[in-house]
Amino acid sequence: MANALYKYSPFTFLSVIVILLFRGPGKVLLYYRYCQIDDPHVICAWQRALCEKLHLTGKVRVATEGINGTVGGTNMATDAYIDATRSHPLFKMEKDDFKTSDGGAECFKDLRVGVYKEIVPMGMDPDVVSYQLAGVHLEPEEFHKEVEALLAKADENNDTILLDCRNFYESKIGQFTQCLAPSIRKFSYFPDYVDQNLDLFRDKRVLMYCTGGIRCERGSAYLRSKDVCKEVYQLKGGIHRYLEQFPEGFYRGKLFVFDERYAISSNKDIISECRYCGSPWDRYQLCSTRFCCQLVLSCLGCRQDGRTACCPACQTKGQNQSQASGPHHKEECECTEGRPRIPQDA
Ligand SMILES: [Zn+2]
Ligand SMILES: [Zn+2]
Ligand SMILES: [Zn+2]
Repeated sequence: MANALYKYSPFTFLSVIVILLFRGPGKVLLYYRYCQIDDPHVICAWQRALCEKLHLTGKVRVATEGINGTVGGTNMATDAYIDATRSHPLFKMEKDDFKTSDGGAECFKDLRVGVYKEIVPMGMDPDVVSYQLAGVHLEPEEFHKEVEALLAKADENNDTILLDCRNFYESKIGQFTQCLAPSIRKFSYFPDYVDQNLDLFRDKRVLMYCTGGIRCERGSAYLRSKDVCKEVYQLKGGIHRYLEQFPEGFYRGKLFVFDERYAISSNKDIISECRYCGSPWDRYQLCSTRFCCQLVLSCLGCRQDGRTACCPACQTKGQNQSQASGPHHKEECECTEGRPRIPQDA
C-alpha cells in the first residue's frame, strides 16, 4: 500500500501543479521598470520563452530604457512570472512593483513580446528625454493630500494643476475630480499638447497621473524639460495603486485598461454618458462600422435600436456598407478628424 502511494503520488502532485499552472482563477499583471538594458534582444527572447512556458498572454515591451509589461494567466503562473522576472539582476524589482487585478489569460487575444525604441511610445528618443529627468514621485497618500488641498481652495487663485496624461477615452470614463484632461488620442500626442499649452503650465505646480505610472515618468520628464513649471509631481504607481488605498477617494468612475476588459472599477460612479441618449453609461464597445477602431459609449437600449456607431459619419457608412471583406485598415471618421494630430501621424 505504502509502495503504491509512493508510486503514484508524484504523478498526482505533478498533475495538481499542471492544473494550477494552466487552469483556475487568474489575474492580470501590470508593471514597468526603467533601467539601462544593453541588449534588449536577449531580454526579449528570455521573456518570450518565460511567458510561453507559463501560458501567459498579453504584451511585453523591451527597450534599452527598460521593460514594460501587462500579462494575464492563472494565479500560479503569474506568481511564477513575478518571481522569475524579479530574479533578473537588471530589474531590481519588488513584488509590490507588480500591480494586479482580477483577470487571466482570456483578457488578451495573444502574446506579444518585442523590442522597441521606447517602453511606452511617446515618440521621443529616450536619449533626448530620459526617464532620469522625471518629476518627483508622490505616494498615493501624499497625492491624495495634494488633491484634497487643491479642491479645498478651488475658488481662490491657486498655483496647482492636476493633469491627467492619458488618452481622452480613458479620462472620459474615470478621472480625478477637477483634473485637466487633454483631448489626445494617444500618448505620442502628449509632447505636442504640452508645446501648445506652455502658458497653462507656467509657474504652476503640476500633479500628474496615469494608469500605472509609466507614462508619467517620461511625460513629466518632457514637461520639466520645458522649464516653465514651478515643479512637476507624479503619482507613484498610478491610479492603480491609488485606488487600492482610496477606492472611494478623489478618483471617480472606471479605470480604463488596454485589454479585453476595457475597464476595471473601484467605485460605483458613472461619470460618462451614452452618446445617443445621454443616460449614464461607461461600457465601451468598438464602433460597429467596419474598419473603424473608435470606442463607443452606447447604452443597451440604444444598441438594441441599432445605434452602435461612433458618429453620424460612421452610422451612414455602416448602413451603406457592402458585406465584401477586404484587408483590414483604419479609416477616418468625424471622431478622428476633429481631434488634434501630430504631423507624422497624418
Ligand atoms: Zn442610450
Ligand atoms: Zn466609427
Ligand atoms: Zn466616428
